[in-house]
Amino acid sequence: MAIMDNSHALSSLKDPAGRYIFVNRRFVDIFGVPSDMALGKTDRQLFPRGIADEFRRNDLEAMKANDAVEFEECVGTPNGDRIFLSVRFPLHDADGIVYAVCTQSTDITARKEAENQLRLTARVFDHSGEGIVITNRQGLIMTVNKAFVDVTGYTEREVIGKKSSVLSSGKHGAEYYAEMWQQISSKGWWQGEIWNKRKNGEIYPEWLTINSVKDTHGEILHYVGIFSDISVVKESQKRIEYLATHDELTGLPNRALYVDRLKLAIAKAGRAKSQVAVMFVDVDNFKIVNDSMGHDAGDLLLRQLTGRLSECVRAGDTVARFGGDEFTILLENTTPSEVSATAERIINQLSLPHVLEDRKVYTTVSIGVCLFPEDGSDTQTLLKNADVAMYRAKDSGKNNFQFFTEELKALTSERMFYASDLRQAMERGQLYLVYQPQIDMQTGRAVGLEALLRWCHPERGLIPPNRFIPVAEETGLIDVVGEWVLESVCQQIGAWKSVGLEAPRISVNISSRQLRKAQFPEKIERLLAKFGLDAQCLALEFTEHALLENVDYVLAMITQLKAQGLHLSLDDFGTGYSSLSYLKRYSLDEIKIDRSFVDGIASEAHDRAIASAIIAMANALDICVVAEGVETDEQKAALLASGCTVAQGYLFSHPLPVGEVEVYFGGAPRKPKASR
Ligand code: C2E
Ligand code: MG
Ligand code: MG
Repeated sequence: MAIMDNSHALSSLKDPAGRYIFVNRRFVDIFGVPSDMALGKTDRQLFPRGIADEFRRNDLEAMKANDAVEFEECVGTPNGDRIFLSVRFPLHDADGIVYAVCTQSTDITARKEAENQLRLTARVFDHSGEGIVITNRQGLIMTVNKAFVDVTGYTEREVIGKKSSVLSSGKHGAEYYAEMWQQISSKGWWQGEIWNKRKNGEIYPEWLTINSVKDTHGEILHYVGIFSDISVVKESQKRIEYLATHDELTGLPNRALYVDRLKLAIAKAGRAKSQVAVMFVDVDNFKIVNDSMGHDAGDLLLRQLTGRLSECVRAGDTVARFGGDEFTILLENTTPSEVSATAERIINQLSLPHVLEDRKVYTTVSIGVCLFPEDGSDTQTLLKNADVAMYRAKDSGKNNFQFFTEELKALTSERMFYASDLRQAMERGQLYLVYQPQIDMQTGRAVGLEALLRWCHPERGLIPPNRFIPVAEETGLIDVVGEWVLESVCQQIGAWKSVGLEAPRISVNISSRQLRKAQFPEKIERLLAKFGLDAQCLALEFTEHALLENVDYVLAMITQLKAQGLHLSLDDFGTGYSSLSYLKRYSLDEIKIDRSFVDGIASEAHDRAIASAIIAMANALDICVVAEGVETDEQKAALLASGCTVAQGYLFSHPLPVGEVEVYFGGAPRKPKASR
């Protein structure tokens, strides 16, 4: 008994009925039950019911087995739950009758916890999504987990005992690893991105953390590396980067990337004393394809153009798309003659037909070019000047290329000057209108007047509208200018009406921006009402360009204007897309054949054929035709022969100031208010 009393294990004896005969000191310590209180009691009297019944069941089992039986029991004690490994065995008297059950319990709580911890760790180790590798202090691999196997492609057996450098990709130099180990030894850990190699040779990026594990004396036992494969993350990073620098539709570099490359090219060319060309390529009739065939066709066309453009340049050159139908090209280490050759190649290649939705579509391009260092030394200037040159190419009939020139440089500064002066010009009464009669060539009578804007600048003299109207359109000033023109014309008609002067219908040029403004038809209506006029006395001239922008909206505007009773005219016909089919769709009343066709109508068979065809079709569609810029009797005769009766031109009259209009239409005295 003394031995039992001093044992580290808990010992007790119970009689077959379950009453305690003996408990040792350890039992008393652990359960906090003094032995004199325990003796003679059953488990039910000492412990909660659940555990008491378990004890009893286990006692009976040991008696039944008549042998030593092991149990694991979890018991609540004043110091919390403990786990015991209990051995029970029956004690027999001399007759072999069981007179007691002896229980010896060892507290295995700590061991159990350690075991559980280990099991848990193993679970984490095995199921971790991150690859884990544990090496010994020499860096030889001791164990790896499943994720390691999945990521690297090596089985556990293939790497155990090997150096962890089996995974090295060769992408990092010795210095990189030296620094890494330097940090591990100084700080105990390292973390970073590293390129490693899978068994199949594939190189991949991983995010790796290495910890050194030390024993209680500070001696390194192991290194534990935990890593995750970040190729997916990297991939999406790359994609974001790609999207930020490329045009999604065509896959070409975008503006940002282009500007970067241009900067580099400028720096390089500055050192090498070579030339760089910036080329703006604008598709002349892209809008028409896009609006008439739909955006899918437009997208397809842009992709086809991309393909052809890329074939026209050298491998090292950059083709970019800034958006819309504008491509920008960067030619490095080049010469003007090389640039010309490239531009010609582009013009030729891009004018070959495209097949879109089984239809053949023809495109042309206008190209503007400027050179470093001649035309600018920074990206902004170069891009701006290439743009100016491109507009020059458009102005000179599209489908051609233009270099930036000194003349254009002067023009750009002139444009800036116009923009700042135009607003004041209106307020200071420098703008005024002249009127050009439209003549019925059969009777010689004026059947209409076109109002044309003039700007008399105090220093620069008369500035033609072709110079300042584009600037007004670019700057948005055309809104106020256009409104001023409309109001002035209505006021003029009202004034003439009030003095009994019978002026014919007056045509007003409307810019595309005006037409796109909300409530344009309502504005016209208000003006007519303000001066007490009929809609019949006004005609509006639009360009094809205006009609092709924002087709649905414009169609609604036009329909409304038409319903209000206005005479609608298509200006400069023949210079743009020139489709008679949409004349009907927009229910226009009149087309004006552009001067460029009238020019050659008497002498050039080609011009004559086109003009005749236009006139014949317009007549068939019951659309009036007005010929613009008639200067000679031969032109007049040719027009009449083709069936065009109404014309406008210097042959009949120059645009006239108000006073002269009044003389022209019956010598009415000039009213001071009529002209500004
Ligand atoms: P447009 O509407 O096509 O006007 C006809 C132009 O041809 C006028 O030039 C006119 O003076 C000119 N012209 C007329 N007969 C002859 C001729 O026999 N020979 C030659 N060589 N030219 C002739 P202008 O007045 O310089 O106007 C040029 C353009 O400016 C106009 O072309 C029109 O697009 C625009 N414009 C003029 N006034 C306004 C306006 O008030 N608002 C808007 N938005 N644009 C205007
Ligand atoms: Mg006009
Ligand atoms: Mg015109």
